[in-house]
Amino acid sequence: MKAAIILVGTELLNGAMVDTNSIYIANQLNKYGIEIEFKLTVRDIREEIYKTIDYCKKNVDLIIMSGGLGPTIDDITKEVIADYLGKKLIVEEKELDILKKKFDNVGIPFKGINVKEVEKPEGAISFTNDVGMAPAIYIDGIAAFPGVPKELYNMFPKFIKWYAEERKLLTDEIYIKDLITFGMAESLIDEAVRDLFDEKDIYYEFLVKDYGILIRMQSTESNKNKVEKITKKIYNKIGEFIFGEDNDRLETKVVDLVKKLGMNISVAESCTGGILASTLIGVPGVSDIFKEGIVSYSNEAKVKRLGVKKETLDKYGAVSKETAQEMVLGLDSDIALSTTGIAGPGGGSTDKPVGLVYIGIRIKDKIYIEKRVFKGDRSKVRKKAVSQALFSLIKILNEDV
Ligand code: ATP
Ligand code: MG
Repeated sequence: MKAAIILVGTELLNGAMVDTNSIYIANQLNKYGIEIEFKLTVRDIREEIYKTIDYCKKNVDLIIMSGGLGPTIDDITKEVIADYLGKKLIVEEKELDILKKKFDNVGIPFKGINVKEVEKPEGAISFTNDVGMAPAIYIDGIAAFPGVPKELYNMFPKFIKWYAEERKLLTDEIYIKDLITFGMAESLIDEAVRDLFDEKDIYYEFLVKDYGILIRMQSTESNKNKVEKITKKIYNKIGEFIFGEDNDRLETKVVDLVKKLGMNISVAESCTGGILASTLIGVPGVSDIFKEGIVSYSNEAKVKRLGVKKETLDKYGAVSKETAQEMVLGLDSDIALSTTGIAGPGGGSTDKPVGLVYIGIRIKDKIYIEKRVFKGDRSKVRKKAVSQALFSLIKILNEDV
């Protein structure tokens, strides 16, 4: 079963609005094993919408449209669908009543123009919109949803459930396994694991996320064993770069590990300025293990809050192995993390380029210092430093504690 997504809206093509609806739709269709052959974005222009429907109709079994179901002059999706299928636009009394009640409930006067929101091609079925006005519709292989994301999220599940039942889809549920790597370039991962991808019924891909690179294997529940077999082989090959699976994230892994060890953790941040603390505190239940986070940005703060020696700062500089080390020593917890670096764009030198970051890790009395030079702008350098600090800590906790 093949599908296409048509996103209707001039605002999606002039840079005013980012399309997120197709991501949601793709995820949903995926779950039902419906393959998406392409997605097309069109302006609110009759001929262009018509042309696009025609192209899709000739190539796929199911068309999902989003946008242009509202009452305004530029909302023409349903008219074009009706026109394309050679149907009349009709209004069902029952649906008009529901719409009028909705207006009543929110205290907005119902106007003639609003009737448009319940118009549909004759023969179309509707899906109730619990969070907005216009219902979604389906007719002859074409489903149309409003552009407003929360309305799409409300009606799409109703539609796809109905559609799957109608078509007797999905006897076999989709099974997805993500292995999440960190610190290994995509090309190197590809080189290392490509030969392991030898099962035909599995779809393999790499997804670059800001928390790592995912090795995704997608198949059906009945192929779960095959996926697991390959998973094992991948671990054998590059296990040291895999920190988790599926919903794991660096910070959730850290929190889990620290909890398991019955320890607590504190952080002292210079260049990351609180992101490290904030990332950890984003994990529910972190209060069991997180003690404190200090943003010691100035030299004065490093001395005053953490007891970093003035001589150390004078001799080696704030961005140095020595400072990172004294920063973790200044924290009073079982585990301590520190970051000090040059996030840029200014402040770099030949010796200490922009992107240079020292990460300090202390576990009880044992100290590890890592030196890294991250590429990217200020924000990238700071985020990469946070991810690296968390990943390095995971590695040490797994291997050394
Ligand atoms: P309305 O009844 O609000 O007019 P509609 O079905 O006519 O709904 P549009 O007018 O096309 O939908 O879009 C409404 C809003 O939904 C847009 O302003 C935009 O904020 C959002 N939107 C539209 N398309 C998308 C998309 N593909 N991804 C994310 N948001 C979108
Ligand atoms: Mg609109």
